[in-house]
Amino acid sequence: MRDTRKVPCYFCGDLVKIGEIGAYRKVSGWAQVREQGGSNSLAFMSTPEAWAHASCIDREKQVKSGRFKQEETLF
Ligand SMILES: [Zn+2]
Repeated sequence: MRDTRKVPCYFCGDLVKIGEIGAYRKVSGWAQVREQGGSNSLAFMSTPEAWAHASCIDREKQVKSGRFKQEETLF
């Protein structure tokens, strides 16, 4: 059964529906070093520590990569 609770988004503070397709959850886990690098599935994933909207994650990725133009957003 899907979890239908809502929690504040880690980045914007608006509510995120837990378990909604596309939502992001922040977890800790163990990733194995692989020859080809990149991300792997995690072993012993923790229960989610935080949740975020897909759009907020996308924005953060752009901020981190330096491609984000510092424009005022609507919120
Ligand atoms: Zn958000």
